Amino acid sequence: MPGGVGTSSPDLDPDEKGPQDACGVFGVWAPGEEVAKLTYFGLYALQHRGQESAGIAVSNGRQIVVYKDMGLVSQVFDEATLESLKGHLAVGHCRYSTTGSSVWQNAQPTFRSTATGALALAHNGNLTNTEELIELAAERAPESSLFALNDAQSTSDTGLVTTLLAEFPDRKLIDAAVEVLPALKGAFCLVFMDENTLYAARDPQGLHPLVLGQLDNGWVVASENSALDITGATFVREIEPGEIVAIGEHGVDSRRFAQPARKGCLFEYVYLARPDAKIAGRSVHESRVDVGRRLAKDFPVDADLVMPVPESATPAAIGYAEASGIPYGHGLVKNSYVGRTFIQPSQTLRQLGIRLKYNPLREVIEGKRIVMVDDSIVRGNTQRALVRMLREAGAQEVHVRISSPPVKWPCFYGIDFASAGELIAGAMNVEEICASIGADSLGYISLEELVESSLQPNDQLCRACFDGVYPVEIPESSRSGKLRLEPRKADAQPVGSLVGR
Ligand code: SF4
Repeated sequence: MPGGVGTSSPDLDPDEKGPQDACGVFGVWAPGEEVAKLTYFGLYALQHRGQESAGIAVSNGRQIVVYKDMGLVSQVFDEATLESLKGHLAVGHCRYSTTGSSVWQNAQPTFRSTATGALALAHNGNLTNTEELIELAAERAPESSLFALNDAQSTSDTGLVTTLLAEFPDRKLIDAAVEVLPALKGAFCLVFMDENTLYAARDPQGLHPLVLGQLDNGWVVASENSALDITGATFVREIEPGEIVAIGEHGVDSRRFAQPARKGCLFEYVYLARPDAKIAGRSVHESRVDVGRRLAKDFPVDADLVMPVPESATPAAIGYAEASGIPYGHGLVKNSYVGRTFIQPSQTLRQLGIRLKYNPLREVIEGKRIVMVDDSIVRGNTQRALVRMLREAGAQEVHVRISSPPVKWPCFYGIDFASAGELIAGAMNVEEICASIGADSLGYISLEELVESSLQPNDQLCRACFDGVYPVEIPESSRSGKLRLEPRKADAQPVGSLVGR
């Protein structure tokens, strides 16, 4: 079977890593369509949400087959593999690891045989009560070691959910889900299936997005509407917080498994989602442009050029330029996929650091007073290196504007920023950060203005990485990092394998 060997290397320069998203999920029920290919293109549109591994599970009504591997969607699948995945429903996943290490065993969809059939599941988000769930799983399946219950020997929270759902052999999957899902705490957008039915569920807070779309002859669910657009599906509605839908021959059945208490992730508007996404009815692009306009009013400066750090800061830079009247231009070229290669860089290349990712356009920068707009500052290493790079390319002044408030607290709901001690805004005030990154001035959008730009009610947002108020309790055991469910080093597994039955 085709497949890459080893892991991709987003850690070409680990100090420069930005916020990492949890995952993208996709599901389709469409008899007569090439569902594996629809899922492939859906995942392709969601690739920004997870680049460590990718997988697709397909059912033909009799059996589920899963194919998954480490790497980008385009590295994991080729035409022949997709042709071999035949059926009328599918779920797909692209992963960045937030619980469980980045290894083949934790790639998704997870797969589990049950007494009455099989189950494949894909998860975006991060659960916060894994200790409780381990106890629950141990009660339900006392004969087996927890992780041995999973065919893939998973050490992720997703493997745990799959195990719990599979422990109801005498019930329909939706009935099992309605019993299990209220026990899950934290962030989860789940897309899963048995041989004939597609299911999608979203946590009661609706922390991360999940949308429903319609095809001529079927249905699609996806993390963002861009994955509907690329597959020709029309947007129908969001999966509501606390809702589970079952999609099959009967159409779409909806049930509530918990009362909604909406707390949508504010950082989706800043960085995580694609600009063409709409979250809770608000265009992410419009929201980012509006933040840029507000930054221009709050932190004006005499300058010759407004430029984004590509690409998530581009709409905010457009807004800043529009409101300030300062010309907009591109001063940095991004090598988008340099961190996603299986080839490890030589020591010489590593020493180039940020230059592996960005190349300055001297012709644009030289002699100019620059406003550089970025989406967030995590450790400060990236901005320090970029400011230095712009000065070396001839910039007279570099003024930095940030389209989010200072990130002071870690996220436990599926976004991997850094540990609390690594966040520069946790230890320094704005003046100190400005001096640390070597900028001539620094301005952050305020939390109040960012919330206003999102057009969401203040009390329906999670803003915890900015204000430290976590809407779902974080037990001490869940603060210990993403490898907390690793009972032992996972054994090496062949890659590019088909698992299924
Ligand atoms: S802590 Fe920040 S990144 Fe995490 S869900 Fe809340 S707003 Fe989003």
